[in-house]
Amino acid sequence: ENVINQIAAGEVIERPASVVKELVENALDAGARRIELATAGGGLTLIRVIDDGSGIPAEELPLAVSRHCTSKLGDNIHDIRTLGFRGEALPSIGSVARLSLRSRPRDADSAAEIVVEGGKVSPVRPVAANHGTIVEVRDLFFATPARLKFMKGERAEASAITDVVKRISLAFPSVRFTLSGSDRSTLDLPAVPEDGEGLLRRIGHVLGTDFAENAIPIDAERGGVHLTGYASIPAYSRGNALHQYVYVNGRPVRDKLIASAIRAAYVDVLPRDRHAVTALFIRLDPELVDVNVHPAKADVRFRDPGLVRGLLVGAIRQALGTSGT
Ligand code: ADP
Ligand code: MG
Repeated sequence: ENVINQIAAGEVIERPASVVKELVENALDAGARRIELATAGGGLTLIRVIDDGSGIPAEELPLAVSRHCTSKLGDNIHDIRTLGFRGEALPSIGSVARLSLRSRPRDADSAAEIVVEGGKVSPVRPVAANHGTIVEVRDLFFATPARLKFMKGERAEASAITDVVKRISLAFPSVRFTLSGSDRSTLDLPAVPEDGEGLLRRIGHVLGTDFAENAIPIDAERGGVHLTGYASIPAYSRGNALHQYVYVNGRPVRDKLIASAIRAAYVDVLPRDRHAVTALFIRLDPELVDVNVHPAKADVRFRDPGLVRGLLVGAIRQALGTSGT
């Protein structure tokens, strides 16, 4: 059983940033308004996520760390309103690290904790805690030393963690995110209203106020696919594509088709080694896209890739043209 979880962990948990992604998604699924993250050693020593979400009742803690136990699966796989649905993350993390889950539901007057170390589950015990959930992951990959060798060093792992939190935070502007680590990268993203102005403020906090000031608004629709957001003016570009934030139905994605469409939109106005900065939100009928091709990857499969490409290239070019650049 633990071997199965470790194999799943090999798929889902590539590095500390994958743990952070899974834990933040769980907190968001639990309706958290505030998510507080702390890391040490690039997340290999410690990842702690504190949320003020719905919490987990003491009797459900053993289920939460069991394989394929999810409280989220509806009957239509395409109609996924929650970020998680596989029930794989916590058991996978518990199989390769020291995991503790401390939780107190909103209506409970006490909290409880469960600990899993290298797959070994300890009995639930009562503890003191506020409402919400505290997840701690220590000594990631201690149980699978071969994995540890693939880690890129504290700095690189820490910046991958910051990147994950920044990306997901644009999709949830009304949630406050804080991140503190033993490295220099820390974040404090205040909650903003879920409207256009709020989103622009969150974009400013995440991608820099200079981007917010050098971006052109995009708003287009083609064949039921909606595209909104911001793309930088050509004069404001970067040396890499790390600052291209793209979302499909509210999920951050990194996808070749989308990246190549953005490149094509700028091909006449940007040199090859320069990259636009974007915060783009694509919305379409969930039946027309698969955003869960691989649990740990962020690529997507559109039923009609040509339509999406055409929309991106056309809308960005038009915006660049009408902005007089
Ligand atoms: P999934 O998210 O796919 O359901 P996970 O392994 O990530 O699977 O989590 C298992 C279950 O544990 C979730 O379905 C949820 O019921 C519970 N859970 C995990 N984290 C939290 C949290 N921060 N707040 C409330 N419930 C949580
Ligand atoms: Mg999950």
